[in-house]
Amino acid sequence: MLVFTAAILLCLSSSTAREQRKESVHIAGLFHTSNSQEEQVFRLAVEMVNSVSPMRRYKLFAHTGKVAENDSFDASQRVCSMLSTGAVAIFGPMSGETSNIVQSICDSKDVPHIEARWDVNQHREAFLVNLYPYKGAFGKVFVDLVRYLEWKRFTIIYEDANSLVRLNELLKIYEPKKGTVTVRQLDRESNNYRELLYGIKKSGEVNYVVDCSADILYDVLIQAQQVGIMADQHNYIITSLDLHTVDMEPFQYGGAKITGVNLVDKMELTSKMADWDSWLLRAGQSMPGYIVDNFKVTSALMYDAVQLFSRALRRMEGLEVNMGRVDCDSYSSWMHGASLINVMKDSDSSFKGLSGLVQFDHEGYRSSFKLDVLKVTSGGLRQIGDWHPNEGLNISTTIEEEPLATDENTLRNKTLVVLISLTKPYIMTKISKDALSGNDRYEGFGIDLIKEMGAILYFNYTFVLHKDSNYGSIKNGEWTGMIREIRDSKADLAITDLTITAERESGADFTMPFMNLGISILYKKPQKAAPELFSFMAPFSMGVWGCMLSVYVGTSVLLFVMGRICPYEWTNPYPCIEEPDELENQFSLPNSLWFTIGSLLQQGSEIAPMAVSTRMVAGIWWFFTLIMVSSYTANLAAFLTVETTTSPFTDVKTLAEQKIVKYGAKRNGATYLFFKESTNQVYQKMFKYMLDNEEDVMSETNEIGEDRVKNKDEDYAFLMESSSIDYIVERHCHLTRVGGLLDNKGYGIAMRKGTPYRNLLTTAVLKLQESGKLTALVDKWWKQERGGGACKDKAASNSPDALGLQNVGGVFLVLGSGTALAAILTVLELLVHVHKTCKKDNLSFREELLAELRFVMRCHGSTKPVRRRHKPEDDHKDEATDDIDFIAMNSYQNGFQFKDPLS
Ligand code: GLU
Repeated sequence: MLVFTAAILLCLSSSTAREQRKESVHIAGLFHTSNSQEEQVFRLAVEMVNSVSPMRRYKLFAHTGKVAENDSFDASQRVCSMLSTGAVAIFGPMSGETSNIVQSICDSKDVPHIEARWDVNQHREAFLVNLYPYKGAFGKVFVDLVRYLEWKRFTIIYEDANSLVRLNELLKIYEPKKGTVTVRQLDRESNNYRELLYGIKKSGEVNYVVDCSADILYDVLIQAQQVGIMADQHNYIITSLDLHTVDMEPFQYGGAKITGVNLVDKMELTSKMADWDSWLLRAGQSMPGYIVDNFKVTSALMYDAVQLFSRALRRMEGLEVNMGRVDCDSYSSWMHGASLINVMKDSDSSFKGLSGLVQFDHEGYRSSFKLDVLKVTSGGLRQIGDWHPNEGLNISTTIEEEPLATDENTLRNKTLVVLISLTKPYIMTKISKDALSGNDRYEGFGIDLIKEMGAILYFNYTFVLHKDSNYGSIKNGEWTGMIREIRDSKADLAITDLTITAERESGADFTMPFMNLGISILYKKPQKAAPELFSFMAPFSMGVWGCMLSVYVGTSVLLFVMGRICPYEWTNPYPCIEEPDELENQFSLPNSLWFTIGSLLQQGSEIAPMAVSTRMVAGIWWFFTLIMVSSYTANLAAFLTVETTTSPFTDVKTLAEQKIVKYGAKRNGATYLFFKESTNQVYQKMFKYMLDNEEDVMSETNEIGEDRVKNKDEDYAFLMESSSIDYIVERHCHLTRVGGLLDNKGYGIAMRKGTPYRNLLTTAVLKLQESGKLTALVDKWWKQERGGGACKDKAASNSPDALGLQNVGGVFLVLGSGTALAAILTVLELLVHVHKTCKKDNLSFREELLAELRFVMRCHGSTKPVRRRHKPEDDHKDEATDDIDFIAMNSYQNGFQFKDPLS
């Protein structure tokens, strides 16, 4: 074991030592805006090289700088300062003006310059490599598209002069006899293109090639829609490679045919994103939203640029590459720059990147690349083919869209295959003594819903049970679960507790939600707190008890002092003697204490104040005790009868903070996805916990999670959807929903993208909602069937329990300890008394004590003789009364007072 640990430590220390020994390779990126997507991706790419595929000898360090778009001086200063601090490659910038000056410095210093931009003036430069598709090859795709679409005439709507260079090939196909190519420029100053578009409309043109940046593309298209050139007869080719980042939803249904191209390899991007995601998660971060949603082509190229550089550097690891600093003011240059750029351009360095195959021709251009041809359909952007500079256009699918069905009879007598997955109470297997077959085998809310919808739209259905509990998500670029089956046309509809998520929406269509819910926590009901022994103290805080003790002592002392001062409290002890020798005061200190405690405990005492002042103190004291005792009694009743409960957490935040209760969710379900994608810190923390303990806390199905919550031997909370929680707590009274809803979403019926009868199904759901049938179905499956309503009676009979010994045990304890103390005091009093007597009469303490005890042991008689030793001066006294003297006994009220005549 020791050897093993030592070996691990050795390995670890040697690997960190190796890391430290690695040579640093500094690379610099120039960007026009801080923290742009390209800059973030640049940094991420460097991190991924270092952590996922590290080089044996080198470690990359990313430096970034901001340069203004058209400030060449600033750009040159920045490049020089980066080179002087050791940068061995410059990436970017994106604008032509600044890029040229960067290029000339890199050329003179033999430092590789790597670009990822559309360059109209692309030339062969010694130290430049540009990952953007070569302009000569790129323009041809649009020529092929125009030919494929058989456009005889068209209008090019372009943004700037660069566009025309890009579309140069397209302009060349203009032949006066065959067709017309019209060219119209957008006015970027005004942002209002309606006039121009209206003019094009007036010309009767129906085919358009739109060449503008993705930033304004949406505005152009929406204004085209406004002027009325987005209808059935209109056709568009969009040249922007960022078409996939633009929201095309408003143009999906208008009938216009919109075609575009895409360079980013979607599969590669999805799998890379999964890698980044898990790497970022391990580093305690989450993927920035803008990377996920709008991954631009320039970002993909920047990522590939870093990969290209690192691959070339890796190939040179065997050589002695000296990473020097290059000074712009000297004639020095970097000796390895040329080799590095050659290796990058070498065909052996080609690799599959985010922008497809990254490969350069003998001139150093990226002339071999593949573009996806996309079409905007009612289901979103769909790939219909691809294009390659050598192979040309290859259209594999012609999407002839079915118009959305509006006729209620569309589905009449059709049989739909409905995919189902077993989850209570949506889909369940019927319990029956007879052997069931076909649709009869299943029952539940979802089954009834399909039945009702079938009755409205007159369709038949066949239920097919899905093989597992995976409802659908993208894994390694592939759809899985029920959504996959739908996409593969294995079923027409899918129904269960299938949550509509953005991800699923991208792969399938959904009806309007038939149920709304949110994520919440299923947990055991709060336990009754164990009664406290001293719960009788609870009505007052310790502060109040402390104050009461102080005022009790204070008032007693005050009475004692006032009693001594006040002349009316000094009274004649023997009323029959008119002029007594001495007066007596009843407010001795013990009596004062006894008087106040007597009234505080509502018992009174035989002591009564006589003077106005002492009576006033007594009155005020009684008023005080009245209020305090009433308050105590009222509060005590509440404290003893109200049930106090404890729970280790009260909402999701406290659940995340505590460490006792484990928690989890359904693996790869919508709840899991919610935590995965949340940007909220608490949810991120919870997701990290769930991911770190995945094997232990995540469940394959809701039922497994529910069973774990029910298990008495386990402390487990399950994050699940509120509708399912409601079903469970309706039947298992010791379980409850803790906290509110974390989000709001709905269940829908899934179908293939572009399904023409989606609207019909949605209308059917709406009809069922409006007629109250959906509510009735909820009542049936939640509150009635299969043990529903089991917890209703329990809730009604919630009468207060009788108080147990645990509730009032403390009072008994006080009584017991008080009396025990009193018993001890009695013994002490006896001992003190015997001690005093013996001292006074010079007697033996033992004898005297034994005599007293003997008397006590007799246990009868209410009189006690006063025993007194014979003293010399008493010799004249009678022999018979020598030892004892009789005690005078006075009867006083209902007690006896013994008076010691010697005292
Ligand atoms: N309804 C969820 C889904 O559609 C499954 C349950 C959950 O994740 O809580 O994936």
